[in-house]
Amino acid sequence: MNLAEFIIRIEAFNANVNIPLIKKAYEFSDKSHKGQKRMSGEPYVEHCLEVAFILAEQHMDSTTIAAGLVHDVVEDTDVTLSDLRQEFGDEITDLVDGVTKIGAMQYSSREEQQVVYFRKMLLTMAKDIRVIIIKLADRLHNMRTLQYLSPEKQIYIAQETRDIYCPLAHRFGINKIKIELEDLSLKYLHSEDYIELAKKIKEKKEEREAYIQKIVVPIKEAIAEDNIKADVYGRAKHLDSIYRKIKIRKVPFDEIYDLFAIRVIVNNERDCYHVLGILHSMWKPVSGRFHDYIANPKPNGYRSLHTTVIGPQNKMVEIQIRTHQMHHVAENGIAAHWLYKEGRQQMSKSDRQMIWLRDVLEWQKDMVNPSDFMEYLKIDLYTEEIFVFTPNGKLINLPAGATPLDFAFQIHSEVGIHCAGAKINNRLMPLSTELKSGDKVEIITNPNRTPSHDWLKLVKTSSARTKIRRWLKQAGFEQSVVLGKQLMERKLKALHLKLPADDILLGYAEQLNKTSLEDLYAGIGNGSVSARHLIELIKPEEKKQLPGFVNKVIDRIRGSKGIQVHGMDNMMFRFAGCCQPVPGEEIVGFITRGRGVTIHRADCPSALILYNQYPERKIDVSWDTSKGQSFVVQLKMVVEDRKNMLRDITQAIADADTNVRAAEMSAQDSTGIGRFVVEVSSLSHLNRIIEKVRKVKGVLSVMREKGGDTSNE
Ligand code: MN
Repeated sequence: MNLAEFIIRIEAFNANVNIPLIKKAYEFSDKSHKGQKRMSGEPYVEHCLEVAFILAEQHMDSTTIAAGLVHDVVEDTDVTLSDLRQEFGDEITDLVDGVTKIGAMQYSSREEQQVVYFRKMLLTMAKDIRVIIIKLADRLHNMRTLQYLSPEKQIYIAQETRDIYCPLAHRFGINKIKIELEDLSLKYLHSEDYIELAKKIKEKKEEREAYIQKIVVPIKEAIAEDNIKADVYGRAKHLDSIYRKIKIRKVPFDEIYDLFAIRVIVNNERDCYHVLGILHSMWKPVSGRFHDYIANPKPNGYRSLHTTVIGPQNKMVEIQIRTHQMHHVAENGIAAHWLYKEGRQQMSKSDRQMIWLRDVLEWQKDMVNPSDFMEYLKIDLYTEEIFVFTPNGKLINLPAGATPLDFAFQIHSEVGIHCAGAKINNRLMPLSTELKSGDKVEIITNPNRTPSHDWLKLVKTSSARTKIRRWLKQAGFEQSVVLGKQLMERKLKALHLKLPADDILLGYAEQLNKTSLEDLYAGIGNGSVSARHLIELIKPEEKKQLPGFVNKVIDRIRGSKGIQVHGMDNMMFRFAGCCQPVPGEEIVGFITRGRGVTIHRADCPSALILYNQYPERKIDVSWDTSKGQSFVVQLKMVVEDRKNMLRDITQAIADADTNVRAAEMSAQDSTGIGRFVVEVSSLSHLNRIIEKVRKVKGVLSVMREKGGDTSNE
């Protein structure tokens, strides 16, 4: 085909075709591809001409036909997009750009989901339906000339055609291209089956045509009787559909009855149903084989009545009834005129898109300029989705506007959490970059990198947002744990205490309604558990700490003499502040962590608590008073608030042969509270002192200080 022939032929499809533009595009293509040859040996421009012709057959506009002529210049020659833009403007350039981009996409996985994603990706990248149609035309001509390529390439291209381009052609209702692509794919993917099938169909040709006449003639007569104008003919089904039936139904070729179908084409919809009635009165319909695609069109816009009847010789015959308009749509798909009204509820997004398209095509009737109509074909298919590649060539589906961070979380939560950067098409890009369909995305991870609150603003997907939130919450918890533990250690250190062993601490945690140490520390860290409360539990023997300086004096002067720890020499010990035992009183020792043995009076409440909790820590101790040392004891007395009371009490204590090591008096209403730290050598010595003090005028009571009673004063 040369240019002159080409123009004559395309004018047959479109009288208004823009001849100067077509000529210009042809010449540009011819010049750019100069010297290049196809594998068939033909000049490269032949391919461009064939592609453009397929587009003309599809009733495409001059712009699309021109774009078809130059569709390979950017990919295969030195011509750049800006050269093209200068020469032909934005519209043609954008179409060529789209075709080039789609052509660069590598089809690698045949996994079903991935195949679906790949098709959708092509659609989202296309932005303009005409890009897909040019690509289909390109693919059709490449399939027609596939015999010149190597067997490996034949298989690869045929498989891609079968998986990707046939469904796309089907989706846009371009039946003519779809059927040819399917048969060509079959030819290369299952060549032996293809050859055998073609042979058998050919062998039966005469028999089949004779049979078709036995049906067509009576139909024509019956229809004419009712004054209906109709074209009636039989047509062979395409090889691929027969092949699929044999494979799916697992029946031998000879048992496939529907190698052909009868088609009745009438002028209007009413006649379709009229003809159906006539046919069903002539032959018995096969139940379950009637489909009203006029009332319920297929999603790609296909409309017809389908029925199967028991024809002459008891053979099943498939019949399709449609109007000329429906036929045109069925053959040409998207660029044909869809003209029907339908119920619009409950439609999938792709259905809505198709209906929108039909509306556009309907408006076309009123459009004087066909290029106005083509403007409307620029639709964003699947505008809400994008499809991007992993470095391994796997496609990932994301919402439009998604960023590398969304992608990272989609790959794996760990990849998201440690996402440190992203390469998009091998270039380092900010994490805020919006991804586009067809992008290849590679995530750089760093184990030290973790989410921040800013990330919530960068992600588009709710799954990534949820994962980031969960991580931040978990990190907050962990921080509380660390904080709570530090807080406890600090507070305990100030009290010269240490954290108990984990199992003991767990017991306390349970008392505070926490089930783990982490929960306990986190509670302290975030303030929901009182640190003081826990401290009281940790050291019951310490909670009777006495107020005021007197207490400190006791600790300092009491020292660590006068006790024998049974079975152990030189054991470090101290007297418990709570009960201040003196020789003569029964005592017990408790081993403490790092602080030796603490000595309590046997009846000290703290000692009882300790014994209940840690019986294993109790140790037998006894007094060793051989060295004649003294022990300090605190006395508490309630006295009348009068002059010289302090002096009189001090005198009474001195009378009992002992020293006052410290004293403090405080007044409360009309009474005073006195605290005296005295040295005693034994219990009887202590009792003597108490007797003396009791006799002082105005002393209401005298008692050994019992830590527990005073701690809350
Ligand atoms: Mn091409």
